[in-house]
Amino acid sequence: MTTVGILGGGQLARMMALAGAPLGLRFRVLDNVADACAGQFAPMIVGDYTDQAALAAFAAQVDVATFDFENVPAESAQWLSERVPVFPNPRALAVAQDRLAEKTLFRELGIPVPDFADIPSRQALDEAVARLGTPCILKTRRLGYDGKGQFRIKSPADIDGAWAALGAQAGSVGLILEGFVHFDRELSVVAVRGRDGEFRAWPLTENWHVDGVLSASLAPARVDPALQATALAHARTLAEALDYVGVFALELFCKDGELLANELAPRVHNSGHWTIEGSETSQFQNHLRAVLGLPLGDTRMVGLACMLNWIGVMPEASAVLREAGGHWHDYGKEPREGRKVGHATLRADAPMELADALRRVGAVLKREAQVLPVIDALR
Ligand code: AMP
Repeated sequence: MTTVGILGGGQLARMMALAGAPLGLRFRVLDNVADACAGQFAPMIVGDYTDQAALAAFAAQVDVATFDFENVPAESAQWLSERVPVFPNPRALAVAQDRLAEKTLFRELGIPVPDFADIPSRQALDEAVARLGTPCILKTRRLGYDGKGQFRIKSPADIDGAWAALGAQAGSVGLILEGFVHFDRELSVVAVRGRDGEFRAWPLTENWHVDGVLSASLAPARVDPALQATALAHARTLAEALDYVGVFALELFCKDGELLANELAPRVHNSGHWTIEGSETSQFQNHLRAVLGLPLGDTRMVGLACMLNWIGVMPEASAVLREAGGHWHDYGKEPREGRKVGHATLRADAPMELADALRRVGAVLKREAQVLPVIDALR
């Protein structure tokens, strides 16, 4: 009997546990909140990620450990890795936790990135805004996610406001300034690398964000084969450089046919949720296969798929359940503003069929604004 330990007990851990059931796996989840939603499916240890007693109890109960949450302190991941195999490895996690280290590595590997600068001080910010020009975005290097810890500088007059909002964090989590990319579309590669180095990727996904949070994903993305090949090559280069094991997502901006890397998510990813129904093997199952050293599953798509995120409140399920290709995911979380509480995936064999399903669901749920960009993309 194999027990997989997951650090973090959110919806990603929950979907991992669900995907692991057919493989006969057991799970233990470590989270600092007692009602973490993966706890509905896997025994939990409640404790802080820096609490050595909790980490020791966790290590004693698992055969291998992985993450649902990327901001587990690197020292905790390292401590754990001295006791039980941990995938992805702590170095990959540490790089992905720091936007500056991540972008520096991308650049070293020849993966194009938006212009960026380390911002240790107010003077550095003034100089970097002058060099990068406006608009630009000041971000925390660590602990930011879903657009949090970011300030958009539209003109030099915004520098004071940006520094007032984030300057205090320059000495702690650190700050990075990025040139603003007027992208045509946002894409992600969700890929997996096995313990033996085998690499597979799902077709590129196109993503739409609202207020920095993923709203909808469409797979396959509308891109030409050369762009798809470049994106996959970047993902593979990165995974090999980090000796990465497991699933990860590389988020990309596409501008005038060129790709710029935004960030590496060292875990299963929201833009890969469609793989549960839209692909031969889901990202969750392939992540488990990778960390356990099992053969990886085929990543080919089954038709087309669109994922719609439910943020803050779960809509009524019937409109999606009524659809032939409609799939409902309620994470069992307390609704709260800004919280990811569930998603739906609509699957179809042809673009027009998917567009029609999206139109119906959007109209019933009054979510026209959410489905419209996807319908446009399917034209
Ligand atoms: P992040 O937390 O870095 O993934 O940012 C969240 C979202 O903010 C991204 O998905 C983009 O929509 C937007 N964003 C972040 N960085 C940039 C950038 N340099 N240029 C334009 N948009 C950005």
